[in-house]
Amino acid sequence: MRYCDQHIHSAASFDATASMGEMARAARDHGMAAVCFTDHVDLDDSRTGRLSQQWRREAPRCRAAWEELSAGPPAVIPVRFGMELGGPNHDPDTAARLAADPALDFVLGSLHNLRNETDFYWLRYSPSTPVRELNRRYLRELLELAALDCFDVMAHIGYTARYMHRDGREDGDVTPDRYGGELEALFTRLIQRGRGLEVNVSGLRHGHTTYPNAQCLRLYRQLGGEIVTVGSDAHTLEEAGVGVADGYALLRDLGFRYVAEFRTRRPEFFPL
Ligand SMILES: [Zn+2]
Ligand SMILES: [Zn+2]
Repeated sequence: MRYCDQHIHSAASFDATASMGEMARAARDHGMAAVCFTDHVDLDDSRTGRLSQQWRREAPRCRAAWEELSAGPPAVIPVRFGMELGGPNHDPDTAARLAADPALDFVLGSLHNLRNETDFYWLRYSPSTPVRELNRRYLRELLELAALDCFDVMAHIGYTARYMHRDGREDGDVTPDRYGGELEALFTRLIQRGRGLEVNVSGLRHGHTTYPNAQCLRLYRQLGGEIVTVGSDAHTLEEAGVGVADGYALLRDLGFRYVAEFRTRRPEFFPL
């Protein structure tokens, strides 16, 4: 089986330290045939959720890391250049400009915080936190994001649940039985606009689900969704490529027949 990890971070991200070359080697050691780097380029400040200018630093840093890798000896496996564009619906014009970099193979559209609010990572979820309301607002913003042209694949739907689960709120999971209408509207929009869906396997490393989970992926397929990628969301050498094989197996079990790999912003389909 050919495995490709299409969500992996390097030292070009604020929250990772290994170089692209080191991450590619670790991914190869964990069974990957190819990787696509998706370092963070964020429109918002993660603490306040307000628009910030940090992309002015981050985008050139990603590009420089990629150019350094490309100038050196060939990487141990094929490598591609992507970005994880955070909060594009909060500043669509800047997002469109950032995504227009012709060097990019792939753009993940990502949402880590609601407009003008802190990253879901920083929130604490007590027994009284209104997790349903937070998830509804999150899904409403993802629907906004889905209308934009600046990304190829929507990243980690259910990101909220990652931290709700961390704090013991199992009822934070984003499932069709709780949010059927919202999820159907979101998947329909993605499908109609030719965007794909990421299976982010980072949650499997914490005893949780993929993002989105199997029930959501089933709904996406029922609605006609076909473009799927798989990503480890690795930030360390230990995590590179880990869980990607499980993501492929899940897709196969759910009846998907192809996984997509992006090159120059276009999907190529490989049998599962
Ligand atoms: Zn992310
Ligand atoms: Zn990520």
